[in-house]
Amino acid sequence: MFVDIAKVKIIAGNGGNGAVAFHREKYVASGGPDGGDGGRGGNIMFVVDDNLSTLADFRYKRKYKAPDGKNGEPNRRSGRSGEDLIIRVPRGTIIREVESGKIMADMSSNESFIAAKGGRGGWGNSHFATPTRQTPRFAKNGAPGEEWEVSLELKLLADVGLLGFPNVGKSTFIPVVSEAKPIIADYHFTTLTPVLGVVRLGEGRAFVMADIPGLIEGASEGIGLGHEFLRHVERCRMLVHILDAAGSEGRNPVEDFEKINSELKAFNSELAQLPQIVVANKIDLATDSQMETLEKYMTDKGYKLLKMCAPIAEGTREVINEISKMLSSLPPIKLYEHEEIPVEFFEKKKTSGFEITVNDGVYFVEAPWLLSILQRTDLDDYESLQYFQRVLHSSGIIDALEERGISEGDTVSIYDFEFDYVR
Ligand code: GDP
Ligand code: MG
Repeated sequence: MFVDIAKVKIIAGNGGNGAVAFHREKYVASGGPDGGDGGRGGNIMFVVDDNLSTLADFRYKRKYKAPDGKNGEPNRRSGRSGEDLIIRVPRGTIIREVESGKIMADMSSNESFIAAKGGRGGWGNSHFATPTRQTPRFAKNGAPGEEWEVSLELKLLADVGLLGFPNVGKSTFIPVVSEAKPIIADYHFTTLTPVLGVVRLGEGRAFVMADIPGLIEGASEGIGLGHEFLRHVERCRMLVHILDAAGSEGRNPVEDFEKINSELKAFNSELAQLPQIVVANKIDLATDSQMETLEKYMTDKGYKLLKMCAPIAEGTREVINEISKMLSSLPPIKLYEHEEIPVEFFEKKKTSGFEITVNDGVYFVEAPWLLSILQRTDLDDYESLQYFQRVLHSSGIIDALEERGISEGDTVSIYDFEFDYVR
């Protein structure tokens, strides 16, 4: 079964805690603080793997957790960082945050993408020594790793998408004109796996053509026309609509043509507007009158009807030339841009509460949702800062700090952010 959509939970590692320790040495009365820092938590990183052509692996594994950073140790020894967890996806996978629906990344290039950042390690007590605080008996906890529920959606990268009912000759056409990409070459043409073929034009020019089996495969059984497969042609720059000119097995090429186009429109009107080339296949089986009827219909609709007999490569060169001509005037393959998740999104999660601990005049606030807001706050930007302060108030953190006796000039520490308290 071809799996092209999946939902997974990704959890980056937490940062390790800083250590509280004091230097010990024979004959040295009281050593200074020497607690080391915690290690960083592992990131969750996505990379493209061209050996994959489906998201099938994600059917069975739904949760990915990167290892935590280790705690700091005495002697200023830092804890070991958690290793990044690498998740491999097929090229063309769109990663989306589920709740907000925002696109985090389009895995179409070879660039890796860190989808969940590991938490920073907490500082050991050696960082907290000041002239007035020579023996800090506290250290910082590591920050939590980011956690997301993401959906993965495969939208193939192809310049040209093949449209057509089953048995019109799509699978025959592709290998005749292209090198099926080696990595997917050993897939059977009968499986519900899209097949990408690279069509070489010479002089280093080439384009990628996708056969999307499964499209409309269930139509005869009344399962529907396989809408979900249409998402694979969404990125295509143009479509090639293949018809069975001979109308074998009771097919009617004109009806087929209209049916598929109305399906396209119903699924996504943008798709229906993609330029199309119409190709009559199986001309060896078609009668003259069938050809005339089809040709007249298409001409009336403003299409130039191309004709081929795919198995013997008759007319296929003309089809490729026509495609190449059209592609040269079309914009490149659509890539999806990263979308910021609005900072307000994290405020909605403040139900998860917060924790305050006080140590030697430092007020430590811990709340994963607040960290997310802080990380997205531009501390140099007035409005951004105002928003952050509003959140501190509305969440009850300010009240709680006051209750714990904070006064002007005391230090507030939120993971690795620190600022002086101002009323
Ligand atoms: P697809 O379902 O659209 O991928 O169709 P296939 O490429 O699998 O072709 C269906 C059947 O039609 C196969 O048995 C092919 O050999 C046959 N076929 C494809 N093109 C032609 C053609 O131009 N002429 C004839 N006579 N048969 C063809
Ligand atoms: Mg096929």
